[in-house]
Amino acid sequence: MKVLFCSSEVVPFAKTGGLADVAGALPLALEKLGVKLAVSLPRYKIVAEKGARVKIGRHVDVFLVENDGFYDRDGLYGDRNGDYPDNLARFAFYCRRTLEMLKESDFRPDVIHCHDWQSALIPLYLKSIHKNDPFYQGIKTVFTVHNLGYQGTAPREQYPVIGVGDEFFTMQTLEFYGKVNPMKAGLVFADALTTVSPTYSREIQTPEFGCGLEGVLGERKNDLTGILNGIDYDEWDPASDQALAAPYNKRNPAGKARDKAALQKETGLEINEGVPLLGIITRLADQKGLDLLAGIVDELLKMKIQLILLGTGDEKYHVLFEKLAKKNPQLLSCNLKFDAGLARRIYAGGDFFLMPSRYEPCGLGQMISLRYGTIPIVRLTGGLADTVSEYRPGGAGGNGFCFQEYDRRAFLAAIQRGLAVYRDKKNWQKLVKRALESDFSWNRSARQYLDLYLKLKG
Ligand code: ADP
Repeated sequence: MKVLFCSSEVVPFAKTGGLADVAGALPLALEKLGVKLAVSLPRYKIVAEKGARVKIGRHVDVFLVENDGFYDRDGLYGDRNGDYPDNLARFAFYCRRTLEMLKESDFRPDVIHCHDWQSALIPLYLKSIHKNDPFYQGIKTVFTVHNLGYQGTAPREQYPVIGVGDEFFTMQTLEFYGKVNPMKAGLVFADALTTVSPTYSREIQTPEFGCGLEGVLGERKNDLTGILNGIDYDEWDPASDQALAAPYNKRNPAGKARDKAALQKETGLEINEGVPLLGIITRLADQKGLDLLAGIVDELLKMKIQLILLGTGDEKYHVLFEKLAKKNPQLLSCNLKFDAGLARRIYAGGDFFLMPSRYEPCGLGQMISLRYGTIPIVRLTGGLADTVSEYRPGGAGGNGFCFQEYDRRAFLAAIQRGLAVYRDKKNWQKLVKRALESDFSWNRSARQYLDLYLKLKG
């Protein structure tokens, strides 16, 4: 079985969010199952700066699509002023060039696995411009939706950059309320569709979560499955994480307290083991429930807790959280940047990890935090509902604290339930141990993807 992964971001080359983690880790897990993998991504400035490394792990080859006019920029998709206006052209080029590079190389995949709108034109190209080329005959496609909120929509005038005829600009194909929607190409033309959690696969067929594409998804519901993301357990391991002050694991969790003290020192908070430390690491986007967080910060800071935020994104949230941090420097540490090392120290040094998302296709933060023994407080939506459940002292299950309604009081109440368990040391230790023992590795999900590839290959 040969598979090409197409993703606009891939760890360790370029990352803005969870897609990069998935595209970097899932190939390695599939490789262990005997799949021969290659990965394709654009050669952004940040990729070029990292040098000529062209493999993930030991065996996974990487195709870097080159075009300095398109990719030699500071951002992957945009900058503080917003998205780049030529993103459709940039990623149409990426899709076309990826298919050409395959033909130039000796790698002919059985399946091309595309991720999100940036690679969604590939299934269309196979069924249009390459339809009669024997090299591409029989190649199957999988399109995975990591986030339906980003569709790559562009003005009608830009349609020609895609390079296919007007017969593909219809309501059944790429047209979307008068605009061009590249994500629809993936949803309509891929042989199989997946999304990153079972709950999200159901949610996106409803108007509330479908972002206008619920009809298209409903028509393909028999081809759509939800496969939960995992995390790379070697990459995310508090026992060997080089970014931490002290390693720890489930048998010997003592290092976690030292990591907490080191984190408090690093972020300028009072060094105090007894104060509950809440962390949040996120893109600063409306999706992530930051308005709920902003709405309870004042109450939280009255409660003798500490809060560390690490994130970057929408300008309005930069302004908002900078202001809040200035008011409460001893209790709130705001780090408005992307910082992989600090992220690891927050996962390790925190007591709780917050994800009050409005919607969350899968979410990796809750799984990483559990891996580091840090207890997630989440809104029950998408993959958060598939991975976190309420802990009740004395009860059997549960690994975190949850709320359902998108409401600041519900969020605050979940935090308060968490803090009550935190003060009850015996139950707290039990909960932390349970978190450290949980398994969200890729093994099971990689198997599900392989089954899907095998089914397609026939
Ligand atoms: P999404 O893909 O919607 O951004 P996920 O929870 O699936 O959300 O994945 C987010 C990933 O990006 C996690 O690995 C998280 O640690 C990381 N991340 C997000 N923001 C930052 C940041 N400012 N600095 C470092 N890592 C970050």
